[in-house]
Amino acid sequence: MGLEVHAQLLTRTKLFCGCETSFGDAPNVHTCPVCLGLPGALPVLNEGAVRLAVTAALALGCTIAHRSVFARKNYFYPDLPKGYQISQYEEPFSKSGSLAIDVAGQRRVARIQRIHMEEDAGKNIHHASFSVVDLNRAGTPLIEIVGEPDLRSGAEAAEYLRRLREVLMAIGVNDGNLEQGSFRCDANVSVRKVGDEKLGVRAELKNINSFRFVEEAIDIEVRRQIALYESGQRFSQQTRGYNADKKETYLLREKEGDAGYRYFPDPDLPEVSLPPAYVETLRDRMPELPEARRARYIEELGLSAYAAGVLTSHPKISAFFDACIALARQAPAEQGVDAVKIANFAQTEVMSGVQTTGLDASIPVRPEQLVELLALVQKGTISGKQAKEVYAKIAGTDKMPADVVLAEGLAVMGDVTEIERLARDFIAANPKQVAQYRSGKTNILGFFVGQIMKATKGSADPAIVNDVLKKLLAEGA
Ligand code: ZN
Ligand code: MN
Repeated sequence: MGLEVHAQLLTRTKLFCGCETSFGDAPNVHTCPVCLGLPGALPVLNEGAVRLAVTAALALGCTIAHRSVFARKNYFYPDLPKGYQISQYEEPFSKSGSLAIDVAGQRRVARIQRIHMEEDAGKNIHHASFSVVDLNRAGTPLIEIVGEPDLRSGAEAAEYLRRLREVLMAIGVNDGNLEQGSFRCDANVSVRKVGDEKLGVRAELKNINSFRFVEEAIDIEVRRQIALYESGQRFSQQTRGYNADKKETYLLREKEGDAGYRYFPDPDLPEVSLPPAYVETLRDRMPELPEARRARYIEELGLSAYAAGVLTSHPKISAFFDACIALARQAPAEQGVDAVKIANFAQTEVMSGVQTTGLDASIPVRPEQLVELLALVQKGTISGKQAKEVYAKIAGTDKMPADVVLAEGLAVMGDVTEIERLARDFIAANPKQVAQYRSGKTNILGFFVGQIMKATKGSADPAIVNDVLKKLLAEGA
């Protein structure tokens, strides 16, 4: 299978007019003569969209064409007021990229055939006895990323989509929002006999809006096609939908060939010229990609592959983690908190409270709070267990951990002199048990440890308590 992904470019305005791109506003408020397709209105290309499109193509290893052409893709549909979609056809702005995926411990490189720019259509809304159209989305800038048929299972397809979405989000090109349709996927599926070169007739699965459903739909479609071949039936090229409740794909329409679209260069738009210097500037400004970031976390910071994966799962989360690391490095070497400790705490405690919507994420603490908290553990002021309690108190607030520790009277635990003071008191107050210990009943030590743990509300470090007690009990022997 090969995937065709449509990703909305995060521009403020549409591809060929100044109307705002938006989601959820009142119908048809973001429209003008250009995106309504009124006669005589002329499109003007949005440079910001081009910049994002080229950045995406570079991140996916594509070759950039210094000259490309917008074409009209003609078809009739009520949500397409001009009667054609402005897209790119014979001369797209980029070709020949790739995306590495890891499935079941195996690395595969899936080729990307091309990426082109195009405008989105509007939206038809169907009511019981009538239909209406909202053209707010008409003219929204998209890139279409056309993959080669290099994927071999539903699981590989889902992984490809996850990695692709992650890259586009990391470079700020797309918000990865599947529910709102700003990242959507069609899957071309065909089968062939083992050993055959040529792929069979393909079916195109349309607009499946979750990674899980893509995986399911593909595997179900593969089984359907194999069953057809095995029973000797032939079928034509089709566009199919997926019914997740019935767990089956269904026929939408017999597929049109490209000829049906009567593509031709759009005479209203000049060809797009992307000078090498322009492309190189964008290449230089490319932020760190998730793949490189994971490698850095593993190789430089010593994180596990799993931790690196979790902490690069969203650009705001990796930015948060990077800020923590930078802060920890500012501290003197002996007080600096180790990256692995930050990663562990972030994964176990912080991540459970993180909520993401598109490119936004709400993280319950600031890096300053987390690093100060872990520094308190490092210094032995509080135990790891207490750190979790303090975290619960600072999460979602502006409170600093040191203030909470002070206010709650938690700051004694790892303090050896404080534990010694308590231990001396207990030894003085329990002469009978001391005598038993000194006569050889050393397991009475547990009694003292228990008393001290109780007095410190479980906050003392048991190893230190043990050491201190053994030392003091031995002194008097
Ligand atoms: Zn407009
Ligand atoms: Mn398209």
